[in-house]
Amino acid sequence: MRILLFLLAFLLAASMPVPGSKVGAATSNASPATIRILVEPAGERFRATFSFPQSMPVWAFHRSQPRRSDGQPWRADAWQVVTPGVSIQRVGAFDTFVGENGAVPRRVVIEFAPPAIELIAAYDPALVFTDGTTAIYGGAFTVFPGLSREQIEALDRPQGARNEIVFVNGPEGVFYRGMQRERAVDDGNGYAIFARVDVEDDAGVATLLDPGLPTWLANGLREDTPRVFEFYRERIGPHASDRPLVLASWVPSDLPGIGLGGSALPGMITMRFEGTALQQSNPQTEGNALWFIAHEAAHFWLGETVRYDDRDRMWITEGGADLMAMRATERLFEGFSAEPMIEQAKAACAAALAEAGVESPQWRTAVRPYYDCGSLFALAVEAAGEPRGEDFFDFVAELISSENDGVVDKEDWLAAARRFGLAPEKIALIRRMLSEASANPARDIDLLLASPNPEDSIFASMR
Ligand SMILES: [Zn+2]
Repeated sequence: MRILLFLLAFLLAASMPVPGSKVGAATSNASPATIRILVEPAGERFRATFSFPQSMPVWAFHRSQPRRSDGQPWRADAWQVVTPGVSIQRVGAFDTFVGENGAVPRRVVIEFAPPAIELIAAYDPALVFTDGTTAIYGGAFTVFPGLSREQIEALDRPQGARNEIVFVNGPEGVFYRGMQRERAVDDGNGYAIFARVDVEDDAGVATLLDPGLPTWLANGLREDTPRVFEFYRERIGPHASDRPLVLASWVPSDLPGIGLGGSALPGMITMRFEGTALQQSNPQTEGNALWFIAHEAAHFWLGETVRYDDRDRMWITEGGADLMAMRATERLFEGFSAEPMIEQAKAACAAALAEAGVESPQWRTAVRPYYDCGSLFALAVEAAGEPRGEDFFDFVAELISSENDGVVDKEDWLAAARRFGLAPEKIALIRRMLSEASANPARDIDLLLASPNPEDSIFASMR
C-alpha cells in the first residue's frame, strides 16, 4: 500500500486541470496590443524573443507557480536574460521582467535550456525526453503589463493580455495540436514538440513515448491508452477535442518509489514518469499506471468537452476524473480495486474540511481537496443512479448533453446532480462542504455517502 499512497501523493497534487477558459489556436491577425513571443532553437539551447507593444515598468508572467522540488520560482534560475538592463524578479505572486531604468525595453531576449522541472498545480514549462526530444509549453511565456511593482504586488490573480507565441524549428518544423507544421502559433495553452512526429493516419490515439521508458510501461501506454479512450467513448459518447496525442517522458533518477505527473490539454496528454519502483513491473504499478492514464484521458470529457467556470470549481473536473479513472481501471484491469483510493480520499477530504470549505481560496495552490472531496461528491452522485442501474458515466453524459455552452458552474453541477437523483439534503450538504469548514467532517462524509434513502428511490423512479 505504501507504493499506492506514494503514487497518490505525487499524482493527485501534480495533475492539472485544463484551463478554465479554452481559447482556440490563435491566428496571426493579432491586434497591435498583442505581445509577441518567438521561441526557437539557438544552438544547443533555445531562445525566446519578446516583442512588447509598448514600454512598461513591469511585465508579469500569468503562470508563475513555483517548482515542486523546493517551492521556489523557477524562471530566474532557468532563463538567462540576454537583453541588458532587464532582470527576472519575483514580485508578489508573480515572476516579472523588471527594467533597471524604470522601463522594460520593447524587445527582450532570453535564452534557456528547456527546464525539465515539475511545477505545483501548473503545466510544466517543458518536457524533455532522454533522447533530447523537447516539448515547450506556450503558457510559460505569456505576460501582462504592470504600471509598477506595487501594482503587481497587490494582485492575487493575473490580468488579461493578448499574447501570441510563435514556435519555429527550421525545416523540420514543430508538431502542434495533432499536426506537423512549419510554424505554430499558440495563445498560451499548448505544447509544441520540436521534432518530427509521425502519426499513423488511422490511429485514434497517437503516442509519443520516451525511448528511455521501461519497456513494460511503454508497451502498457501503447496498448492501454486506446482501450481507455474507447471505454469512455462507449460509455459517454465522443469527446470534443482534437485527436489525442499522449506524450510520455521518462526522468532518470534515484527517486525511490514512483513519481508521476501529468496534465491534459486540448488534444494532448502529457505524462512524466520517474522512480526506481517503475523499473520492474508488478500488477500494482501496472494498475496504477493505467489509472493514471485514465485520469488524464477523462479530462477529454470532463475538462474539455465540458469545463469549469473558475479554478475554484476544479473539484468538478478533478474529482470527477478521479472517479472515472477508478471505475474505468476496475473494468479494464483485473484485480484493481478503487477501495483504497476511496478510503484515502475520505481521510484526506476530512482533514481538509476541518480547515476550510473546498472552494476556499486557501486551496488554490494546495489543490488536493479538489481531488479528494470532489471524488466523494462524484461517488454520492454515482450512488444516486445505482437504484436504476446508472453510474457516474451516465451522469457525465447527461452533464455534457445539458450544457450547451460547455461551461459547468457550481449551480449547473448541483442541478444536474439533483436531476440524477441526489437527495436534496445531500445537495445541501455538498453546498455546505464547498463553502465552509466542517465541525465534524468524518460524519459529514459518512452522511454524504450513506445509502440512498427510500425517498431517493421514489424520486428516481419518477424522473
Ligand atoms: Zn486531472
